[in-house]
Amino acid sequence: MAAAEQVARAGCIACELSSGVRPLPGGRLYESSGLVVEHCVGPLGVGTLVVKPLRHVVHVADLDEAESAALGPLLRRTAAAVTEVVRPEQVYVCLWSHMDRKPGHIHFVVQPITKADMARFAAAGPELQLAMFRAGESPGEAAVNAICARLRPLLAEQS
Ligand SMILES: [Zn+2]
Repeated sequence: MAAAEQVARAGCIACELSSGVRPLPGGRLYESSGLVVEHCVGPLGVGTLVVKPLRHVVHVADLDEAESAALGPLLRRTAAAVTEVVRPEQVYVCLWSHMDRKPGHIHFVVQPITKADMARFAAAGPELQLAMFRAGESPGEAAVNAICARLRPLLAEQS
């Protein structure tokens, strides 16, 4: 990999959040093998996390061997943590990473979905995510900090 790929890419929100250029509510929750877990800054609800490479990688096919090997276990670990804290009916794990129709820094969204979420927006699946984006309610910083304080030890203690 080129050394330039390992530094934060100017203008990339994902890079700016993980490098500290932008404030990251809840702080970094976990880091291993070039991957990090953070709370989602978008309007997808309190407890929705993001798993992404620290490097500015814009295609899954460009992940290196270490990142690839760590990805599956970390997605499972992250889903298990949100399951324990939120007690959702399902956990969505998805990757869109298309900002303004251009490939962006890949980030897997790990989103716990409760019956209350589905009832409130009268939707499930991609329609539910679309409804949440249309509502545009970013999670409050206090709520994010509180849930991250519960998630961080769960992410750390699993092995
Ligand atoms: Zn980036």
